[in-house]
Amino acid sequence: MNKRTRWGGALAVLLCLLLAGCGTREPTPETQKEPVAEPPIVSSARSTEETEPPAPAESASEETEPAPSEKEEPAPAEETEPAPVEEEAPAEAEPEPVPAEPTPAEPEPVEPEEAEPAPEDESWKLILVNAEHPIPEGYSFTTTELRNGHRVDERIYPELQRMFDDARAAGIWPFVNESTRTAEEQQAIMDEYVARYEASGLSREEAEDQAREIVAVPGTSEHQIGLALDIIAELSSDSWSTWQWLEENCARYGFILRYPADKTEITGIGYEPWHFRYVGAEAAEEIMAAGLCLEEYLGALPEN
Ligand SMILES: [Zn+2]
Repeated sequence: MNKRTRWGGALAVLLCLLLAGCGTREPTPETQKEPVAEPPIVSSARSTEETEPPAPAESASEETEPAPSEKEEPAPAEETEPAPVEEEAPAEAEPEPVPAEPTPAEPEPVEPEEAEPAPEDESWKLILVNAEHPIPEGYSFTTTELRNGHRVDERIYPELQRMFDDARAAGIWPFVNESTRTAEEQQAIMDEYVARYEASGLSREEAEDQAREIVAVPGTSEHQIGLALDIIAELSSDSWSTWQWLEENCARYGFILRYPADKTEITGIGYEPWHFRYVGAEAAEEIMAAGLCLEEYLGALPEN
């Protein structure tokens, strides 16, 4: 019987252990909590996924933007040759709009075509017109009208346009302030100056002498042969920088600074940084390089 009670006690202990084991199953709710905790992880995972989607959406959009840039980058890379052209292009492109309105030299393309037969006789390029060399009788020429109404000998128009285009590309804004005058217009200018000097107290003769110092007597002005231009700067730009550019570059287009400061004794005309005369590229290059005036180049010094 004792053995049975011992075994019975052992069984009771086992039962108690089993029961106690059931008691220790309290953590099972915890294990249930774990799965509960999982959802938040999943949800947080989803949230991260949700945040990610917009992120990738943004990053995608951002990537799509950089992507084209990458596509564009290779494009310029391929266009490395045109690239320098584009650098020049903007320079021209920016200037163009500004001068577009008052752009002086831009006539109809029809007239330049008429200039083609002219090159036969080029003596006109070096015609000398000054106080001692009046315009030959019957001298005539055909003019091309610039956009601002001024006219020039049609034969110089292409070079004039090229010079202005290149000047603008260099940031210079030349403007034709005066070009071709008729004899009547030249006379009107002379009369105006004479009247001004008379009004200041000079006699008629004194006034005429003074006026001749500044204004060419009709028939002796280069402005009457369509080859001379008085060039100033566009409204907002600097005339001195414009004149400097023209003096340095005009020869390439066949123009010369006609009345330099150190040649007034020879030309009989005071320094006129704005007055440019077409003589053709060959003569212009030589004249400007040597620092001559037209009279010196032609060996036609005044007889003093
Ligand atoms: Zn002039």
